[in-house]
Amino acid sequence: MTDLSGVGSTPLSGVGTARWYRPGTLELPDRPDPGSVDPEAERARFEEARDEARAGIERAREQAADRVGEDEAAVFEAHAQFLDDPQLVGDIEDAIAEETTAEHAVADRFADAIEQFEAMDGRMAERADDLRDVRDRLLRALLDVDIIDLADLPAGTVLLAERLTPSDTAGLDPDAVAAVATVTGGRTSHAAIIARSLAIPAVVGVGEALHDVPEGAAVLVDGEAGRVVVDPTDDQRAGAGGVDAPVVEGRVSTADGREIEVAANVGSRAELDPASARGADGVGLFRTEFLFLDREGPPDEDEQYEAVTAALSAFPDDRVVVRTLDVGGDKSVPYFDTPEETNPFLGQRGIRLSLAAHGNLFETQLRALLRAGAGEDGDGLAVMFPLVSQVEEVEAALARVESVAAGLASEGVDHAVPQMGAMVETPAATDVADALAERLDFLSIGTNDLTQYVMAADRENDAVADCHDPLHPAVLRAIDRTVSAAEGTDAWVGMCGEMAGDPALTELLVGLGLDELSMSAVTVLAVKERVTGTDTAEARELADAALACETREEVRVVLGLE
Ligand code: PEP
Ligand code: MG
Repeated sequence: MTDLSGVGSTPLSGVGTARWYRPGTLELPDRPDPGSVDPEAERARFEEARDEARAGIERAREQAADRVGEDEAAVFEAHAQFLDDPQLVGDIEDAIAEETTAEHAVADRFADAIEQFEAMDGRMAERADDLRDVRDRLLRALLDVDIIDLADLPAGTVLLAERLTPSDTAGLDPDAVAAVATVTGGRTSHAAIIARSLAIPAVVGVGEALHDVPEGAAVLVDGEAGRVVVDPTDDQRAGAGGVDAPVVEGRVSTADGREIEVAANVGSRAELDPASARGADGVGLFRTEFLFLDREGPPDEDEQYEAVTAALSAFPDDRVVVRTLDVGGDKSVPYFDTPEETNPFLGQRGIRLSLAAHGNLFETQLRALLRAGAGEDGDGLAVMFPLVSQVEEVEAALARVESVAAGLASEGVDHAVPQMGAMVETPAATDVADALAERLDFLSIGTNDLTQYVMAADRENDAVADCHDPLHPAVLRAIDRTVSAAEGTDAWVGMCGEMAGDPALTELLVGLGLDELSMSAVTVLAVKERVTGTDTAEARELADAALACETREEVRVVLGLE
């Protein structure tokens, strides 16, 4: 039995069969000596590889059509056409006839074609990625490298990977994936957040030792304790998996009667029903960017309207806070054609990107939102802007809302302007929180980014995980500054960073004065239970004691976590 430790990310455990995801391991063998290659045999290998690639592309097309729609699935038709492109196929066959192995012929000729596409502009240049995809399918078939299809894993898979991207994780089927463990990654990386939202048990940042877990091994991933156990005992297996926790129905209040809203963070429609079933009081953060990832172009107004309307009807009596597009940083969207950035987390992220010119990107999203606000359950809609650092950004964004509302009115389209808010995720926003609160209905503190920017510690980098700690007094004081700044205004203040979902911190957060806590649905019950056991005055004393600390260790001692 091997027992490895990492950072527990989704506080659930799961057991299953290890499958490695190794996307970057397509290494070509050395070129054989001329004369030792049999062109006939190589041509046959190439044909077989083409058939295999064709079948794989068709499977991917069907899945995409099922999960995201026919339009988006069309990209795979283009992939299939590359396999029959007379020029490309002819060049590969010519190279094989000149005694090149099939894999080297494919690699060489695709390299030429990729280079040609890359030299073109805009959308043509993007086709180079499609060519790479098709080339890799052929090479996988030729080299017999089994790279698994993340969207189509067998039930009971424990997925092991060096790291996962946000869109890799968003494509996982929670019914098939028993758990995830990765070599790198931090608790607040988007991949970890999505796994948590999908209630997939996860441990991240296990380190190089994870590579020793063999394919096919029985593995237990304990996301509560942060452990990965190979060949677990029967007792350990029995303790893993779905404990059907009771649901606390309805709102909860502290022992002395202060109501705290405990809402869910969601990134897709698939997460709405589980969030409601786990007793969430609405949605405190709907990450709309996942509608925009992994596709050829942005979703149109109607698709966005449908997604928001689905969230509203999943929570007809509650508030649903929809965040406008938050891409940039680790969530890149190739079709935006934005220039490469040296520091993407300090670049054109969040509201900055929406306000910059990208066609009608922002207007289209706002139109969908304002229309949804006038729909059947639209009363509950609230909209917030991500990564705000300046009052001017909020003013500009609100002006866009006004002009979109005026446009809809002139077209005679039903619409309503919902509650408007901003995320507080930058030190600058905490410093101007009073001005933001005066202009908005609410603020929602995003501690994942706030901690990253206050501490200058990359949320994705487990080597600086000690620094990326929301319990550092500097972060606590930034939160306190924000809540205090909104006092005396009508704005409510919530928190939707991962800190909000840690039940061990609920008393502290109530003491800091938050009105709403929003989290992955999996911790809603535990947080609700903590709220009901909290006394507001005692919680404030605890918060004051934590705010007076100088180090994170002192804060932990004050909170009884050491
Ligand atoms: C945050 O930064 O805390 C947040 C909730 O936003 P995201 O994790 O999506 O960046
Ligand atoms: Mg953020």
